Amino acid sequence: MTSKPALIDPFGRPVSYLRVSVTDRCDLRCVYCMAENMTFLPKKDVLSLEELDRLCTAFIEKGVRKLRLTGGEPLVRKDIMSFIRNLSRHLDSGALEELTLTTNGTQLHRFSKELYDCGVRRINVSMDTLDAAKFKEVTRWGDLDKVMQGLDSAVEAGLSVKINAVALKGFNEDEIIPMLEWAHGRGHDLTLIETMPLGEIDGERVDQYLPLSKVRASIEERFTLKEIPYKTGGPARYTQVEETGGRLGFISPMTHNFCEGCNRVRVTCTGMLYMCLGQEDSADLRAALRASEGNEILNQAIEEAISRKPKGHDFVIDRNTKTPAVSRHMSMTGG
Ligand code: SAM
Ligand code: SF4
Repeated sequence: MTSKPALIDPFGRPVSYLRVSVTDRCDLRCVYCMAENMTFLPKKDVLSLEELDRLCTAFIEKGVRKLRLTGGEPLVRKDIMSFIRNLSRHLDSGALEELTLTTNGTQLHRFSKELYDCGVRRINVSMDTLDAAKFKEVTRWGDLDKVMQGLDSAVEAGLSVKINAVALKGFNEDEIIPMLEWAHGRGHDLTLIETMPLGEIDGERVDQYLPLSKVRASIEERFTLKEIPYKTGGPARYTQVEETGGRLGFISPMTHNFCEGCNRVRVTCTGMLYMCLGQEDSADLRAALRASEGNEILNQAIEEAISRKPKGHDFVIDRNTKTPAVSRHMSMTGG
């Protein structure tokens, strides 16, 4: 366990949750997340796995208890499993409470067992439709079957799976209830996410934006949702669906600001620390990491950055706001 003081932001919120994007690359191109022709970062700009380990360890020593790996697609990074296996030492020591990841599921059939073996117990799998043709459309070329195989392997390995679905106007509006029944039928929680204006994409955000307040109202015509205090450390508000017995979460950054209890910060695969998903301010931890082999400069940079963590953000999606709220894609900061 760490004896060092926890990281506390200027508003008294302890930073106990770190999300790390381990790569900006992905094997899919979800239409709300990426443009079809993305230019990915040159390798030298991306933190090595050793640097990522140093960085995560520094945060854990400062009181981070929950670490989520994301991307891009975390499971397409070369040697990712050796990185995860190394990180699991912090679970063994008790310094870290949870090591988890958010994945598109395409590689799960290869890695589920090993993930469990490394101490991972829960994963989030992103999936916006149960229809193979629509899945191909929204991911631009993904194979739903492969993801389904991955889900089966995760269940078999003993991993708890939460399905994340982005609510997209005119795309999966009519599928939300079938997805809810499917997910709960398999014992998975389901969390619905509003699209956020992050990064330039090929289409118009306003054409994709579907307020979750509307989705929830239509779910409530069929199901009874009971607010529950369940928390996973993330921004979702959970309900229990009486008829299925399963949990349904809502991440509504547009209709419900989730900043109040924010306990997390994000690091990109280039080592930029973002203190808020919806703001541009950042700290360059790669420079700090590469400045010396010791961690003094790194620790100072982390502390200084946390002292600038803002109170919150406001997102706007409307016809008059043409530019994204922040220019970086979700695949950089990892959602
Ligand atoms: N590739 C992995 C995956 O898809 O789960 C991890 C990275 S992905 C950027 C993390 C989450 O962000 C996914 O659930 C994805 O659906 C969501 N996401 C991406 N772009 C988004 C946007 N503009 N608004 C809301 N959610 C978004
Ligand atoms: Fe890739 Fe995840 Fe973005 Fe889809 S949401 S393009 S799977 S990073």
